[in-house]
Amino acid sequence: MVKGLLDAGYKAIVLDDLSKGHQGLIPGGEFIQGNLGDVQLLDKIFTQYRIDAVMHFAAYSLVGESVEKPLDYYRNNLARTIELLDAMNRHSVKYFIFSSTAAVYGEPMQVPITEEHPSNPTNPYGASKIAVERMLQDCDMAHGLKFVALRYFNAAGADASGEFGERHEPESHLIPLILKVATGERQNIKIFGTDYPTQDGTCVRDYVHVSDLAQAHLLALEALMAGKNSAIYNLGNNKGYSVREVIEVARKVTGHPIPVEESARRAGDPAVLIASSDKIRRELGWQPRYEDLETIVKTAWVWHQKEAL
Ligand code: UDP
Repeated sequence: MVKGLLDAGYKAIVLDDLSKGHQGLIPGGEFIQGNLGDVQLLDKIFTQYRIDAVMHFAAYSLVGESVEKPLDYYRNNLARTIELLDAMNRHSVKYFIFSSTAAVYGEPMQVPITEEHPSNPTNPYGASKIAVERMLQDCDMAHGLKFVALRYFNAAGADASGEFGERHEPESHLIPLILKVATGERQNIKIFGTDYPTQDGTCVRDYVHVSDLAQAHLLALEALMAGKNSAIYNLGNNKGYSVREVIEVARKVTGHPIPVEESARRAGDPAVLIASSDKIRRELGWQPRYEDLETIVKTAWVWHQKEAL
């Protein structure tokens, strides 16, 4: 996102407590180390800089972990966002772009999922995000906050430059874990659940490239600055791949056999999540550049090979 903002001619200030992030992967702009629940720090930043808009990515985002540690998720994702919105309100900052998630829907009643689909999250992660979305609507009514909530489906891939990509410690996401088998860092990939009501029994997800997500944030920001109303959009490619299909694509891209181990379901995982992202395509002209999974996995593979050196 920072790269996208700088390339588009904006100035960027990154606030990150580095509990998950890596300062060395920020490609420019200004960096401030700190937590977004730190009210004094927020007041200092909003006083020191003339900030037009806030993009909020700083959440815990692991479905399984959220089931085990719900209060950590509500504290970090919900309570700290209250402080951020409150500080924005004190300093009259009106534009907000929020990283939401497909996990707000829960087990879908039909796919592809449109934004009108009822939200009934199956895990605390999704519940913490829908609570923030509701809060944003209330802040719009009360204070004129203009927001766009972007409901990401499965973020994947790496910047095409090969300069940055995913680095989670420990890693828990499917595509990075599969590619770590191909680099020799791991023995096999565990498939979490083979008895789902899907074509091959494994979970189906809609994978969307990180650079396409960043592009959507820019479009959302510019729409708000041009006077458009607050909105909620899905971000996905309208196409689902099962866990076994993702592994197959990675075998093709890497040329590695990638052994699998079938194991139990992971708590909180819906069987199928596929986006309809027609709304953002129609209203903001979003057009993903990395739509097909093989291309997405190729960009991730360049990055993970570099990381493994
Ligand atoms: N998954 C899996 N093995 C793994 C990690 C993930 O089978 O080692 C499955 C997981 O159950 C889900 C899908 O892959 O259905 C994508 O999971 P990931 O953690 O990458 O993203 P999430 O859907 O949680 O955002």
